[in-house]
Amino acid sequence: MKKRDYYEVLGVAREATEADIKKAYRRLARKLHPDVNPGDKSAQKKFQDVQEAYDILRDTEKRRAYDRFGHAGRPTGFDPSSAGAPPGGFGGGEGSGFEGFHFEGGDIGDLFGNLFGGRVRTGPEKGEDAQGTIVLPFREAILGGTTSLSLRREKECANCHGSGRVGREVCPVCRGRGRVAEVETVRIKIPEGTEDGGTIRVPGKGSAGVRGGATGDLFVTVRVAPDPYFERRGDDIHGVVPVTVKEAYAGAEIDVPTVHGTVRARIPPGTRGQKLRLRGRGVRNPRTGQTGDHIYTIRVVVPKAVTPAGLDAATLLDGLYDEPVRKDLPKGL
Ligand SMILES: [Zn+2]
Repeated sequence: MKKRDYYEVLGVAREATEADIKKAYRRLARKLHPDVNPGDKSAQKKFQDVQEAYDILRDTEKRRAYDRFGHAGRPTGFDPSSAGAPPGGFGGGEGSGFEGFHFEGGDIGDLFGNLFGGRVRTGPEKGEDAQGTIVLPFREAILGGTTSLSLRREKECANCHGSGRVGREVCPVCRGRGRVAEVETVRIKIPEGTEDGGTIRVPGKGSAGVRGGATGDLFVTVRVAPDPYFERRGDDIHGVVPVTVKEAYAGAEIDVPTVHGTVRARIPPGTRGQKLRLRGRGVRNPRTGQTGDHIYTIRVVVPKAVTPAGLDAATLLDGLYDEPVRKDLPKGL
């Protein structure tokens, strides 16, 4: 790929003044800065091109040399130090583009300080908060525990310790940003009774701060997967328990599954489809310190096989109702 003309990169005329060049640079840098376009490779490349073009055109000596020799580099006998050109020409060919470039002392701070919001930012800045989402199995959300989440976050650059520079040069690892994006697996503590749509805050797992600023926090949105058996309503858990005709009629001891484990429960004789309650077997709510109940609905299951003996037994039961079972339904509709 042919290297683009520096004037073209900045979108200014060849006779542009220093002020024009600076203005064009600021406009482009504001648009293309990596902090504004995280993860955007194309913006990153353009940002580097703009930086490189500006680094040459802002300097009278380098600009004059560029005007004369272009990207072709120095002619034989040309002394790069006298013209201020980086060794090997201006940025060289493809692939080497960025290496000759560096900011000169003291400039990056005031330049970028002015870019955002029109105010100079020189003090410590807190890192951005990170966001994430986890999907929890139903019981894990209720009982609490730990899970982990992989996320990309900005960490302090280990090479320059967040300063963005090594000596007078821009840090090659973070390219002057002082931070590098890394994928990290973060352990997340699930509090007991966590609700669907709730948020868990993990302090210090957002992006690293700038200039010694505090690290941001991670906010994790919780989605709770539905359970085929349990349903949460407030702090109560609901479920359905099937019983046989005989168990319902005679009363029985049955196993009732709850989120805290199976509980042996007694159903009274003549149980119909009512709801029964196991106190304190629901969700423990850390805010109130109270624990909800487990509420289970009895479902009487009739055998599928219809036999003469079965019909006799059913007929016998039918004679035992002391009032019509549908007496409370609306009439005359
Ligand atoms: Zn660095």
